[in-house]
Amino acid sequence: MAPRTARALLCVAAAAALVAKRAPLPRSITRARSTIVMKDFPQPNVFDTDPYREGSRLSDRFKTDLQAGDKKKKVAIIGGGLSGLSCAKYLSDAGHEPTVYEARDVLGGKVSAWQDADGDWIETGLHIFFGAYPNMMRLFKELDIEDRLQWKVHKMVFAMQELPGEFTTFDFIPGIPAPFNFGLAILLNQKMLTLGEKLQTAPPLLPMLVEGQEFIDAQDELSVLDFMRKYGMPERINEEVFISMAKALDFIDPDKLSMTVVLTAMNRFLNEDNGLQMAFLDGNQPDRLCAPMVESIERNGGKVFCEKPMERIELNEDGSIKKVVLRGGEEVVADEYVSALPVDVLKRVVPEKWSTMPYFKQLDELEGIPVINLHMWFDKKLTTIDHLCFSRSPLLSVYADMSTTCKEYADDDKSMLELVFAPCSPIAGGDTNWIAKSDEDIIQATMGELARLFPTEIASDPRYEGTMKPRTFEGGALPELPDGAKLRKSAVVRVPRSVYAAIPGRNKYRPSQKSPIDNFSLCGCFTSQKFLGSMEGAILAGKLAAEVVAARAVGADAPGDKVIQQHVIDEAATASPKKPVGCKGRTAVAFGGGYTFDQAIKRELEGQDAVQLTPLN
Ligand SMILES: Cc1cc2nc3c(=O)[nH]c(=O)nc-3n(C[C@H](O)[C@H](O)[C@H](O)COP(=O)(O)OP(=O)(O)OC[C@H]3O[C@@H](n4cnc5c(N)ncnc54)[C@H](O)[C@@H]3O)c2cc1C
Repeated sequence: MAPRTARALLCVAAAAALVAKRAPLPRSITRARSTIVMKDFPQPNVFDTDPYREGSRLSDRFKTDLQAGDKKKKVAIIGGGLSGLSCAKYLSDAGHEPTVYEARDVLGGKVSAWQDADGDWIETGLHIFFGAYPNMMRLFKELDIEDRLQWKVHKMVFAMQELPGEFTTFDFIPGIPAPFNFGLAILLNQKMLTLGEKLQTAPPLLPMLVEGQEFIDAQDELSVLDFMRKYGMPERINEEVFISMAKALDFIDPDKLSMTVVLTAMNRFLNEDNGLQMAFLDGNQPDRLCAPMVESIERNGGKVFCEKPMERIELNEDGSIKKVVLRGGEEVVADEYVSALPVDVLKRVVPEKWSTMPYFKQLDELEGIPVINLHMWFDKKLTTIDHLCFSRSPLLSVYADMSTTCKEYADDDKSMLELVFAPCSPIAGGDTNWIAKSDEDIIQATMGELARLFPTEIASDPRYEGTMKPRTFEGGALPELPDGAKLRKSAVVRVPRSVYAAIPGRNKYRPSQKSPIDNFSLCGCFTSQKFLGSMEGAILAGKLAAEVVAARAVGADAPGDKVIQQHVIDEAATASPKKPVGCKGRTAVAFGGGYTFDQAIKRELEGQDAVQLTPLN
């Protein structure tokens, strides 16, 4: 046995003995809240892993055997989210001439951000980077912007449901290798699960580490709850861990989420010593991440345009693309075309002739999940936790005080919470369609939850009913708190179609980057790659699509087609061709993004995706 592993096993055994004896826990563990260190941490070693080496090999291919030489291609990439930009970056590295056509006036898609009238940044989503994001880490290195990641201490912070105002943590002890560091972190935490529950949880998850992807893929037909019941996991694991995990991973409840998603995340994160270590970008994504990608693309001969929405795809007789037509009539002719559109938009522009091809028909099985991202500015500083917090509350998923975690939004005196509100509709497991509710309703509900999360800090404020309820703290009732922190401003960003809904059975329908059309490839985080619908997934998918295009240009090998389900092939054989409904509208929501709602956006959503506005509750 390797000495590192032996040492780790000894530590785990010692910890187990400690837990079994119910020895009093060190103060640092019982009072996790007071031990969170308010500083950024050095970049962990995320480079000495197989996934990172694999990602690096692919990056290197673009500069070696995939170099275009005299086979340079003009490539039109539709969509300037992370995936489209990644595709363009790697194609330009290979010496091709990519041009990105982005519909909106800002790049980034689901990571886009903009400033409001006061100059405050509004983000489409609260975004966290993980050590186990190998292609993203490699990209930061290639762009020489690694110093823009603000690494946080290696732990996970959970709000305590039964003890409002209290937090508990999974602490990853430096020097203990994965997956033992995670096992130890769970063993040492005595607030969330009993030892018996912990021991019952481990065996069903072991095949994930031993058998790997095959076992993981085989669980896709099961929801997280189905899996738990099948393998006799205690129900409390769901309440204590899986609800917050599912909501953080896909904005969805565990009875709706495919177990493959949880296992995939665990497998990626738990196989690397620093896989679960988290980082915040030091500012808004368009400036701090998209802009350096654009610089790299342009330096190598590519171009990036905003406010160029694609209207339709026109085909040659043989079904290949003749040109794409932008809104306003501009025609784009290229050697190769790549869609970096979100799946919901892509489905609207698939040409009639392609609509009965199994490859495109399988897209019917995928759709984006709604989510809401909130910004709440307070007039005082709340308890500063310099980390992502899992709220474990019914309406909220994760949140962070961006005035503490992120340099660009830093404020010593006032907090700005960014919170992910989920599940926010029935498809995600909720019983209320919050997308259809007013901003006021959403903020009212959130203030009630915050009063519970911060019982000694959020002011009792007659504007928000939930803050006026009696609160409990450490078992006692709290008096009203008129001098607490008051909400001074908020922004509600609705993303009616965000990442693809990873409900059971979807993984098999995620299309390969290579399409059956000779001059057309696909990317976007929903396409087939091993990193779920995430920023890492978007970057990897863009890189894989670039590989398909670059390899075709020089006659080299690239990943091939993915098997399409027989029932899709059968249905496609008898399906009637469908005319594309087209990508209409001018707002972020029309392009698969998110925005603060006004009447114009609401009207567009009504026209395109009316189901999103059906009130349920
Ligand atoms: C609230 C929220 C929180 C999230 N948190 C995390 C997180 O913590 N960690 C993580 O890894 N991931 C997170 N994600 C997921 C992550 O943001 C996405 O997986 C990723 O950004 C998707 O990138 P993409 O390029 O595949 O798609 P998109 O970002 O959707 O890009 C598609 C682009 O195509 C453009 N487009 C659409 N129609 C047209 C058209 N007709 N013509 C031209 N262009 C068009 C769009 O404007 C957009 O720019 C979060 C997402 C949300 C919504």
